[in-house]
Amino acid sequence: MKLYINGEFVDAEDKGTFDNISPFTNEKINSIASGQAADIDKAVQSAKKAFKGEWGNLKQAERLEYVYKIGDLIEQHTDEIALLESLDTGLPIAQTRKQVSRSANNFRFYADTVKSQMYGEVYQVDDEFINYTVHSAVGVAGLITPWNAPFMLETWKIAPALATGNTVILKPAEWSPLTANRMAEIIDQAGLPDGVFNIVHGFGETAGDALVKHPDVQLISFTGETTTGSTIMKNGADALKRFSMELGGKSPIIVFEDADLDRALDAATWGIFSFNGERCTANSRLYLHESIANEFIEKLKERVWNIKVGDPLEDDTQVGPLIKTEHYNNVKNYLKIAEEEGCEIISGDIPTELSRGNYVAPTILLNASNEMRVVQEEIFGPVIAVMTFKEEAEVIEKANDVRYGLAGYVWTNDIKRGHRVAHAIESGMLWVNSQNVRDLRTPFGGSKDSGIGREGGHYAFEFYTEQKIIHVAIGDHHIPQFGK
Ligand code: NAD
Repeated sequence: MKLYINGEFVDAEDKGTFDNISPFTNEKINSIASGQAADIDKAVQSAKKAFKGEWGNLKQAERLEYVYKIGDLIEQHTDEIALLESLDTGLPIAQTRKQVSRSANNFRFYADTVKSQMYGEVYQVDDEFINYTVHSAVGVAGLITPWNAPFMLETWKIAPALATGNTVILKPAEWSPLTANRMAEIIDQAGLPDGVFNIVHGFGETAGDALVKHPDVQLISFTGETTTGSTIMKNGADALKRFSMELGGKSPIIVFEDADLDRALDAATWGIFSFNGERCTANSRLYLHESIANEFIEKLKERVWNIKVGDPLEDDTQVGPLIKTEHYNNVKNYLKIAEEEGCEIISGDIPTELSRGNYVAPTILLNASNEMRVVQEEIFGPVIAVMTFKEEAEVIEKANDVRYGLAGYVWTNDIKRGHRVAHAIESGMLWVNSQNVRDLRTPFGGSKDSGIGREGGHYAFEFYTEQKIIHVAIGDHHIPQFGK
């Protein structure tokens, strides 16, 4: 599979490739062109040319026509893209289908949002000045994405980048490259001018790093691990990049004694075991009020034993294999650590016919406590740590006692307490009596070590556009007359 540069599918300059491996069989799926600094430079030159040329000169409505068209084409190919995504990542097909639908929506949503909400502000100063702001595209945007929901997360960046008028170089995660090229084919079919959208596959340390350091790339939007985010910020510092950082999480779900326990159980189970547990906003720390803990844990165990672990391409599979053997080993190692730290481990079974895949059974860690590594560190697999609490203040303190601050979930039927706890939890996003339901208009992002900046709605304009203030004198204001 090739790179996509300047409207053409091409090999890497040095003809290098790497193997793409199936999470289900651990066999090779295909070879991927492995981009290096020379390929990044080629892509940047073509993106720069397109920005200064045809793309940059389009009227907004003309540009957005393309963005709508991309959304329509994705929708027409939903099943096929979902199939590729599941093959590549091990995510269950029922879940990738929804992610692809959401991806089509991301394009329509951003075209709508640019049309309706990308306007400036006017500041009148008596009868002397009218000052107003305008938005303009920044230039070449470098988008670096992870493997956990690759297609959807790519569109969540490509759509606002293009809709606001930038040109794009996407560096997809090396563990999940397949659907990115389907995206390139769709963009090609939509007829975007050459160079507006480019893909350079390759490793983070080579292709990714060259993108981050390239002097003609003004923006880096990154989603991935917190440690990678800080490396990228260091490496981009000399070129004074503008960064958007969507990083790791270790999000709490708090269930009070007065909550609707059945719904809280549904949400807690889905929130950790969907997307194979490889979910940035997963509720990986469960805090139960001690009066309901036993009952809740018994029901959670039943869920874990009943979850359908299976072939990601089967419709009724709920949990599939993890992306890669390295990641599987990492998650397994955390289960060893949990044991050493004194947790009781409850997990489901993996059917023997799945033994070639990177399967980790849905797992509950009981008797967990806040100082444990398995409670502090992001495991990024189908593993939930369970703890109990007595008092509201105590659980708020425990929930906040981590480096991350991406999401949080509170379950209570006491309206005052719901709001109060939501305000007190240190996270960018909080849901009360709800699973992670996204409203695309709202700000998406993390606090603390979970991120910098916000994506979503008009918040993305802050990152993807330059805001200029224009001061216009409408009267004869005072001008000092030096040397007159
Ligand atoms: P990762 O940090 O290993 O890799 C992400 C991307 O960065 C990949 O494309 C990789 O090639 C690239 N990369 C790695 N090193 C680089 C370097 N030095 N320079 C430039 N690029 C480099 O992350 P991952 O393992 O692919 O994804 C999982 C992580 O992503 C988890 O921590 C998860 O929480 C996080 N995540 C966060 C969000 C969010 O919205 N906050 C969403 C999804 C995933």
